Amino acid sequence: MNVAEILQCIESKTGHKLRGSGHSYSGLCPAHKDKNPSFSISQSNTGTILMHCHAGCTFEEICNSLNIDSKKLFSIKSRKDRVHLSR
Ligand SMILES: [Zn+2]
Repeated sequence: MNVAEILQCIESKTGHKLRGSGHSYSGLCPAHKDKNPSFSISQSNTGTILMHCHAGCTFEEICNSLNIDSKKLFSIKSRKDRVHLSR
């Protein structure tokens, strides 16, 4: 699962497109009734996907609201880390 796929999930859930470019986007939070964009998502160089809600939703709550298994995001991270180490 990558940022583009998560963005699609969020957009279909909230009905709003997230604004941003490259590896950093912000928009409405999918985990609570958001009126002001308080959600941000970004991807680090190591492939770690970071999701943050300024209203206080947790990573787990955001994943649950999108029916995403949060462990999948972490497994991507560890896999990429291994690739990185083998270089
Ligand atoms: Zn939220």
